[in-house]
Amino acid sequence: MTKDNPRLNAFPVFMRVEGEAVLIVGGGDEALAKARLLSQSSARLRIVAEAAEPALLDWISANGAEHVAESWSPVLLAGAVLAFAATGNEALDRIVVADARAAGVPVNAVDRPELCDFFTPAIVNRAPLAVAIGTEGAGPVLAQMVRARIDGLLSPSLGPLAALANSFRDAAEHLLPKGSARRRFWRAFFSGAPARALEAGDALEAGRAASELLSETAEATGHIALVGAGPGAEDLLTLRAQRLLMEADVIVHDALVPEAVVAMGRRDAERLGVGKRKGCHSKSQAEINALLVALGRAGKRVVRLKSGDPLVFGRAGEEMAALREAGIAYEVVPGVTAAFAAAADFELPLTLRGVSSSMVFTTGHDLKGDTLPDWAKLAISGATVAVYMGRSVAADVASRLIAAGLSPDTAVAVVENASLPERRRFHGTLADLPSLEDRADLTGPVMTVIGDAVAGANFARSEPLAAKRRAAAAAAQETHA
Ligand code: SAH
Repeated sequence: MTKDNPRLNAFPVFMRVEGEAVLIVGGGDEALAKARLLSQSSARLRIVAEAAEPALLDWISANGAEHVAESWSPVLLAGAVLAFAATGNEALDRIVVADARAAGVPVNAVDRPELCDFFTPAIVNRAPLAVAIGTEGAGPVLAQMVRARIDGLLSPSLGPLAALANSFRDAAEHLLPKGSARRRFWRAFFSGAPARALEAGDALEAGRAASELLSETAEATGHIALVGAGPGAEDLLTLRAQRLLMEADVIVHDALVPEAVVAMGRRDAERLGVGKRKGCHSKSQAEINALLVALGRAGKRVVRLKSGDPLVFGRAGEEMAALREAGIAYEVVPGVTAAFAAAADFELPLTLRGVSSSMVFTTGHDLKGDTLPDWAKLAISGATVAVYMGRSVAADVASRLIAAGLSPDTAVAVVENASLPERRRFHGTLADLPSLEDRADLTGPVMTVIGDAVAGANFARSEPLAAKRRAAAAAAQETHA
């Protein structure tokens, strides 16, 4: 046995006993306990007891078991598939065990694990569904405690649901191709309308709902979900994103989505990285659009995973247009956008009563032309500005905003890798912002937030942006002196 991979000395199996003879030898409490346990199955019980106690006799007549009122003889093993030595007498139990082994019948001796070929589990019975709990004889009390907990977890209607599933298995195999469609059907069967109907005790409705589900799934075509992965931390994924990831056949993700988030998808989903990190586009947008359309036409359930929110600088517009044109069904699942993650990392109120009541999502890249974009005017009138993809144009953003009339003292907060443990935070003023461009050490995604509301942030865990600029300026002065 290794620590990482403890091994079972008794391997659990479910044995067919329907209509088969199971032998119980003994006339007292131990025999009665085993008879009760075995009567949860459809085995034929043969109880060998020369002198059965009254409780056992009552049970035998109430449950229609066969009673052989004779002393032990190996001929009684004829045709049995399992035997239990439950006489309460060790010497006799040993004889029964030896005879059973000689006859090739697996045998269990009550309370004598060393004599047992197999152990009987504690059972949670939702026939045909069963949970069997074993401890290799180590702790019957532990097994009972676990049994009680699992029993509480499993609805009594699971049994009828599993039976209904059995009656739909052939149809599902016939109508649905193996793989995602069939998986989807069964998942919806066990968690959707059929399960709910049985929970409410309506077997007729459950059957109807299952038939409907089957024909719906058979007709289903591909589907693309444009899903926001959030800023990077796995636990900022939405529950809906997580569910879709678990149902996906294919996950198409950008480079900015961390591996840990992609890994939350179904284990055997196909994963396609399509790059799109600044400077290393591994696929063009047109190629990505075509890929999504092709996957949809092939009937796949696709999650198109984008960092942050898919509708914020995510080029989702082009992907949705391509899907619409191709007639492929899609949906959009929002995510936590980088600006919100950055604000949270700084405890920064994006709107602040009396200071800022509007918010701009922008990228510095539209500042290149001669005309000032509208958002610059909004900034001057007090909006909080979140700059995406702004590191390499930080100097432009600062100089154009200052030229347009925004005070150089306006507060600025910058975070690299917002929401992630390795995040780095910086604070300063608009005048300090150009220093970002020289920082080759910022290799992760960077979010810049500008505005008077930023002054309300918590800068206890951030470094001053100006440190570098001032150091450089001081060095320059020294050389001049
Ligand atoms: N759809 C994304 C934005 C994609 S554009 C969203 O809603 O967040 C890529 C830019 O987003 C990066 O250049 C950076 O400015 C910003 N970004 C994404 N993740 C970030 C993170 N964890 N920390 C800081 N900025 C981030």
